[in-house]
Amino acid sequence: MYGSATGRPNVKSHLFAAILERISDGDAPFLETPDGTVMTYGQLLAQSAQFAHALGAAGARPDDRVLVQVEKSPEAVALYLACIRTGAIFVPLNPAYTIKEIEYFIADSEPSLIICRPALHDAMQRLSPSLACKTMDERGQGSLMTLAAEQAKEFSDAPRRSQDLAALLYTSGTTGRAKGAMLSHGNLVSNARTLVDAWHFSSEDVLLHALPIFHVHGLFVAINVTLLAGARMLFLPRFDAEEMVRLMPRTTVMMGVPTFYVRLLQHPGLGGDVCANMRLFISGSAPLLADTHRAWLRSTRHSILERYGMTETGMNTSNPYDGERVPGSVGLPLPGIEIRVTNPDGGAPCARGEIGMIEVRGPNVFKGYWRMPDKTKSEFRDDGFFITGDLGRFDERGYLSIVGRSKDLIITGGFNVYPKEVELELDTLPGVIESAVIGLPHEDFGEAVTAVLVIDGSEPMTEEHVLTALDGRLARFKQPKRILFVEDLPRNAMGKVEKNVLRERYRDLYWG
Ligand code: AMP
Repeated sequence: MYGSATGRPNVKSHLFAAILERISDGDAPFLETPDGTVMTYGQLLAQSAQFAHALGAAGARPDDRVLVQVEKSPEAVALYLACIRTGAIFVPLNPAYTIKEIEYFIADSEPSLIICRPALHDAMQRLSPSLACKTMDERGQGSLMTLAAEQAKEFSDAPRRSQDLAALLYTSGTTGRAKGAMLSHGNLVSNARTLVDAWHFSSEDVLLHALPIFHVHGLFVAINVTLLAGARMLFLPRFDAEEMVRLMPRTTVMMGVPTFYVRLLQHPGLGGDVCANMRLFISGSAPLLADTHRAWLRSTRHSILERYGMTETGMNTSNPYDGERVPGSVGLPLPGIEIRVTNPDGGAPCARGEIGMIEVRGPNVFKGYWRMPDKTKSEFRDDGFFITGDLGRFDERGYLSIVGRSKDLIITGGFNVYPKEVELELDTLPGVIESAVIGLPHEDFGEAVTAVLVIDGSEPMTEEHVLTALDGRLARFKQPKRILFVEDLPRNAMGKVEKNVLRERYRDLYWG
């Protein structure tokens, strides 16, 4: 084994030590790109060692933040591991962020080193002249690689304990300031191990990876699980239905956001032999419509396994590998993770079946928000449960369903309306592709229930039609006051519908 052979401090819960334990053959493939280029586990170790030396030479010390805003590439994965090996705190950012947006992340995380795309280097240096800045392009080349190329391929990893920070992951922050979630080595190791077991990962698996790697899903779920299973990945720079269908026969597992599944279903090549080697399709990061689940089952004979998690906690629940996977549900609490549903006002436990706030406690739960002690305090209960901000309910079998974010809850004329309940009704109407229900300011009601619909044009559909169809299906106060038709719903990089964008767009609908 690599870990013991090199005599490095094998600190328990140190993420890199856990990864090393799994590597028995340096020639085994870790990652392959669509053009057939393979990176073996041995090459991953050597490259991460060279990058670790380079990071040190550029000024990164244990506990320093290293801000990384680069395109997805195999080298970017080695860079992530290099940060972990030096004991620095990895801070990945969406490459789509502009220099203006990055200014905030620099001020907030106070990194000692930035790795960015070559195109941003000069602007970055103008922004922070004293900050060390190295570059990496989409092929992994740049000044970091130049510095790394002359470094040794062995590195003495910084000893880290379970509670030491491994990463600062900024929450997608659809409202307010983005918050840095402090994730420890222990958080990442425990969650990845739990998922390897829950989803039966082994070194035989080949993961089809088309997710971005600046987010918990593509980074910690997909990559850490692959590493801790000693498995391998087919690594696509981005989602591309054609490429996915071409490569799928060589893979065994896919992890995707719901939009992947929706788009793949529209591809004529899906189904039959394409999925012959597949054993598991996993979905998360946004709600998977029950219709999509059923359509996928019809096309591929695979039941998508939906799971639920977030930046602050990693994964919390999963539909079972062996038992029934229930469409519209995010499944059961993962082993070692406690979940309860409470009354959002007082925090008292809800009865089974009742909707309330989802709270989580376990080794996966983050250490708090970076330099926001008050915010951290207000998001945790005294007994250590984290208040997720998601509303949900358990059914009689213990399956959890998500009803939406608590900030999306609509209060109209003093009544609570859960957007999901209205969306589910709308989605069953013939001709409706999808819907988003929001609350908009209204003089009489406080907020007015408003539906935004995407339709396929197969049915004649007017506002009138939809309102008539809902009559009798939903209590009056839940029925939308207005129906709006759009081409597409606004979505973020993870496929989540941005209701804040819709609320902003239609803010004055009931005024004037
Ligand atoms: P993020 O921190 O960007 O991963 O976003 C986490 C949020 O995504 C959660 O708090 C949920 O609101 C939502 N989410 C994640 N997985 C699911 C799922 N399977 N179904 C519904 N919402 C989900």
